[in-house]
Amino acid sequence: MSEETNWRSPKRVALNIAVLYTANYYTADDRGTVAKAKEVLDRYNIELRVWPDGGKKGSGNLLGDINAPIPDRKEAYEALRRRVNEQIRGRCSFSVVMPAVFCQYEHRGYGITPEWFKLVTPGCLIFPTGNPDMMDLVHEIGHGAGCDHVYGDGAAERENFMHEANGRSTIRQLQVEKLIKASFAVA
Ligand SMILES: [Zn+2]
Repeated sequence: MSEETNWRSPKRVALNIAVLYTANYYTADDRGTVAKAKEVLDRYNIELRVWPDGGKKGSGNLLGDINAPIPDRKEAYEALRRRVNEQIRGRCSFSVVMPAVFCQYEHRGYGITPEWFKLVTPGCLIFPTGNPDMMDLVHEIGHGAGCDHVYGDGAAERENFMHEANGRSTIRQLQVEKLIKASFAVA
């Protein structure tokens, strides 16, 4: 890694996420994207705290009443966020949290962080299929922290976690600085 992608947060900071699944999410679980996000963020001295522990599908984090793909509409994202907050209330003890809902949705992409899904903190939707690099969840966490896409065909661009193509692994200093100041970060 270059100097720019070697920069670690001077202080250990935690990011809180809540992992939920809809009834029509057809993959067994998160495909390893939670473990990958933990591993990558840890390299930058950022702890990823996950509710429920490990982020696997269980009774407490299953939105069993949601069987249709989430439409790409303001009201649909807002309703989903209200449903998510209701589900985690009393179950998830994090003071601030970014929900990640593993589900089917109509918008294109392996993961999306719609502005309309935000309620104090951002939230993301993760599709049942994704990039083999398992970086789709940590990419959306990056969007939640205000990181924009990185474009370009150079190796440094392509390996960055905010690139859209497969093969990502690194985070730049300016992006680490955004992550540790996210609305779902706890120092
Ligand atoms: Zn993106």
